Amino acid sequence: MQDRYFSFEFFPPKTAEGTEKLRNTRAQLAPLKPKYISVTFGAGGTTQQGTLDAVLEIQRDGIEAAPHLSCVGSSRESIREILKKYREGGIRHIVALRGDMPSGMGEIGEFRYANELVEFIRAETGDWFNIEVAAYPEYHPQAKSPRHDLENFVRKVKAGANSAITQYFYNADAYFRFVDDVRATGLEVPIVPGIMPITNYTQLMRFSETCGAEVPRWVAKRLESFGDDRESIRAFGLDVVTALCERLLAAGVPGLHFYTLNAAGATKAIWQRLKL
Ligand code: FAD
Repeated sequence: MQDRYFSFEFFPPKTAEGTEKLRNTRAQLAPLKPKYISVTFGAGGTTQQGTLDAVLEIQRDGIEAAPHLSCVGSSRESIREILKKYREGGIRHIVALRGDMPSGMGEIGEFRYANELVEFIRAETGDWFNIEVAAYPEYHPQAKSPRHDLENFVRKVKAGANSAITQYFYNADAYFRFVDDVRATGLEVPIVPGIMPITNYTQLMRFSETCGAEVPRWVAKRLESFGDDRESIRAFGLDVVTALCERLLAAGVPGLHFYTLNAAGATKAIWQRLKL
């Protein structure tokens, strides 16, 4: 179990209240000794300062921080500037993404896909950064085909990524099959499952619709049947996600990456149940 690594994901808060809440969440999760905490980045640079502030604060607390960096809508110069700030702040770990252009925001920019960003980061900064990329066991919603999506993932890793974090999923078999397909191409990069705790039915269904993660019918039906009974949603969600994590850990996954949504409760509860 020792060489497994666990990480947590936050998003940059937009208000003073949100910042305080996140500090509190961090204080609750820090004792779980994550390998690192990552902080998301709004595509088009919308959270640039917030992401930077959050990662610097995490590093000051003595925890490794990994900012996400999405390239859609960006110029090479603007990405160079951001990388410079991260280096100056002693950041050595980054999650490199394409991102999704917010609707109504203009130009595509100078990068089309995440592999181009990974290549650029390597060309500009050599081995300074440990680079993570995104993986999609149930396929990216815009992928032309599963094979095409796999080829694109391979290209992104070959551009210089060290490891990958998956989109969340509740079908473990999709993850196992994806990892097998990647291994069949000869790549040995760690592919860490992204874990989304379940605490809110409406929000989960909305997210899943957009990102192409499938909520199995039996899970969705049960959650729906609880209506506004948040306690039952939470208890059932905890059972489902803990069982998923147990299965993944038993199969020897390299670690787990928790999408915390800036709340400590569900992640901590799963952690305790897993007796990590
Ligand atoms: P890519 O790897 O570029 O893939 C995007 C699509 O293009 C795929 O369908 C792929 O098959 C296809 N493709 C890739 N390369 C090529 C090519 N050369 N030619 C043709 N097609 C190609 N979004 C944010 O905005 N901010 C975040 O902080 C953030 N964090 C995330 C963290 C994780 C772990 C994950 C899984 C997702 C995150 N996202 C984030 C969402 C992500 O930005 C979206 O899923 C986005 O649509 C794709 O980003 P990507 O880096 O996977 O893109």
